[in-house]
Amino acid sequence: MKAGVRQSGVPWLSPTSAARLLTCPASVVGLVTGPPPRSPAPSTGTSAGALAHAALQRWVMADDWRYGDRDGALVDHFHAVAEARKVAVAAVMNGRVTEARLEQRASSLGELMRQAGADATAEAEVTLHDSERRLWGTLDLLITSDRGVWLIDLKSGMDAAQSLLPAVILSQLSIYSHLVAAVRGRAPTWVGVFSLRQGAKQVPVSPSDLGLLGLLDERRSAWMAHDRPALPAPEVCRYCTRRPGCDPHWIALRAWGGADGVEGQLLRAQTAENGRTALLVQNATGSAWVSNMRGEGFQELVGHHVRVMRIRRRTPAGQSSDAAQWQATDSSAIASVGD
Ligand code: SF4
Repeated sequence: MKAGVRQSGVPWLSPTSAARLLTCPASVVGLVTGPPPRSPAPSTGTSAGALAHAALQRWVMADDWRYGDRDGALVDHFHAVAEARKVAVAAVMNGRVTEARLEQRASSLGELMRQAGADATAEAEVTLHDSERRLWGTLDLLITSDRGVWLIDLKSGMDAAQSLLPAVILSQLSIYSHLVAAVRGRAPTWVGVFSLRQGAKQVPVSPSDLGLLGLLDERRSAWMAHDRPALPAPEVCRYCTRRPGCDPHWIALRAWGGADGVEGQLLRAQTAENGRTALLVQNATGSAWVSNMRGEGFQELVGHHVRVMRIRRRTPAGQSSDAAQWQATDSSAIASVGD
């Protein structure tokens, strides 16, 4: 933001909210104004990604990364975190795969960190604030030595495993890089992600991407003036918290080839012995069965207009006059938007 502008009413942007502001301003909710936001509370999540992040944090804090012969300790930390959070690795979705990836990747991550030199110090989950630009963020890994600063973002998902990193991750890294330069007074010498699937990937990031920072200032000013257009796109909308009630999204989704949702009147809900429920949804273009839904309370939604999200189509669109077949995933959800 420009110098002299009264800052206390200006919302802070994290890399996540900044990415949302750039991709769909209507999706940005819950921005914090006033004093700098606090560091996020330590995660207590039990997904494979959350457990892996916590294990890496323990590995760094225990200084195990310094010694090549302690690379195996990363998997021990993973088990210790799972035990502390009272979950069995084998019972967590992708738990065993993540365990194997940690085992496979620990040595290359350790090597990367040790490149910083013998005098290097490593910090995990570092929260930095730039009060002038009202930007803040929590960095996964920061390694500092006389030779420079290494900024490493740890990733367990598919998004960072692609050969070209998505724009969302690149803008996150730009903001992290700016925060390090602004708060620590040294631009990072190495910026990139460490994907548990693919290993290290360095990206060329300038310490302060003035084009990006200027664009964020513009978008934030427009957002504050309630200029918040909805810009639907499959990857942007997938996990958006506003998705259930966002009409522009549901209109756009009708034309998406790989759409992952259906809406219409819920005609039936049949629960099998295994506890999973099949839903029959009808709309103006036909009907659809969504099988394998987890959860309860579906009967109460019969007769309602519902929107079912993050499901997979099993029959190609338009290939049959029968009801289209869809299957629920672990992240599927349903919302009622009226009778
Ligand atoms: S559902 Fe999509 S279009 Fe609607 S607010 Fe969210 S990201 Fe934007």
